[in-house]
Amino acid sequence: MNRVYLDHNATTPLRPEVRELWLSELDALGGNPSAVHASGRRARAAIDEARERVAAVLEVREEEVVFTSGGTESNNLAIVGSLAQSEPPAGMLTTPLEHPSVLETARSLEEVGYRLVFAEVDGEGRVDADAVAKLAGRERVELVSVMAANNEIGVVSPLAELGEGLARLGAKRPRFHVDAVQLLGRLPFHPAEWQADLVSLSAHKVGGPLGVGVLLARGNTPLAPVLTGGGQEYGLRSGTENAPAIAAAALAVELAVSERASYEEAVGQLTRELWSAIESDFPRARLLGPPIDARDRLPNTLNVLFPGVEGRALVARLDIAGLEASAGSACASGSLEASHVLLALGLDEASARAGLRLSLGRNTCSQDVHNAVDILRKNIPSRPARR
Ligand code: PLP
Repeated sequence: MNRVYLDHNATTPLRPEVRELWLSELDALGGNPSAVHASGRRARAAIDEARERVAAVLEVREEEVVFTSGGTESNNLAIVGSLAQSEPPAGMLTTPLEHPSVLETARSLEEVGYRLVFAEVDGEGRVDADAVAKLAGRERVELVSVMAANNEIGVVSPLAELGEGLARLGAKRPRFHVDAVQLLGRLPFHPAEWQADLVSLSAHKVGGPLGVGVLLARGNTPLAPVLTGGGQEYGLRSGTENAPAIAAAALAVELAVSERASYEEAVGQLTRELWSAIESDFPRARLLGPPIDARDRLPNTLNVLFPGVEGRALVARLDIAGLEASAGSACASGSLEASHVLLALGLDEASARAGLRLSLGRNTCSQDVHNAVDILRKNIPSRPARR
């Protein structure tokens, strides 16, 4: 039996057409894009074209596209770059469900005197847009950062309502940052409707190369650079650009957006099938996040609690059996901590260590779902022994 890869929220396989372009650009683009000679100009032209294509498909202007090294750097630039423009005690509001690249960045700013305010989430991970706007107004924060879709449980934020609520604050409106790393290519992407000022993306979540991200700075939102040096990327991100990888990333982003509707339909169907098989085989299994048919859930993500089963040990067992999945977020794996996302849903420590995340992708087929269920059946006792 072929191995089954259900860890697409951690990273996705490189798309063959992206790989082909990347390899050919590696050969073709040898120069430093800042150099004035022909090799340099070729690399510069490739970056310009990539920027143009990304801007067109993401409905922004070219000057609003900043290439970075990934989602983590985009989040850092959005947050540090925004708050560094004001002195402490300027502040930001975020949610307890954010990726560590938001939470840890916010906490490090808190340590030097910036204020950090958290909006509450309910037991399914939902944020309330009105509550966020009220809290942002009352606390007079400079920045609100809310993820578009959560990597662990797949809950989707009400982005348009959040944008509306913040806009109603008028002169007190903080800037709005959206970490859309998990939303791109999976659900509709319209930063103008969200009234977002800053949007973070990562190429390797959509079949692109690792190590390339984008920060959309809409309306050319002023930012302080995090990386200083030669002044590349409009002075916001110094460092010699990786032209071949940026060209490949642009193709991956274009494909992800153009195929989004068929992805949503096909992957959504397989995800629902997987859940219904799990539900019927394991009556005590619990799906975390919004219900399976809810509109505010990613089409590809299941996070399941199998009572009495420890997530990390299960992941290791499943791996040996040929199913690649994850417990909590991959970025935190290796640590024995309970998932901060599951804790924020109100789960106790033991349950917050028990979640199994299964995330599907565009290559997942019915046979994979069938094989995955088979492996789960053989490796999870349907009635675990009492401890
Ligand atoms: N934000 C979210 C929601 C993510 O899921 C991830 C990666 O898992 C990141 C940010 C970080 O992206 P990258 O791996 O490109 O640094």
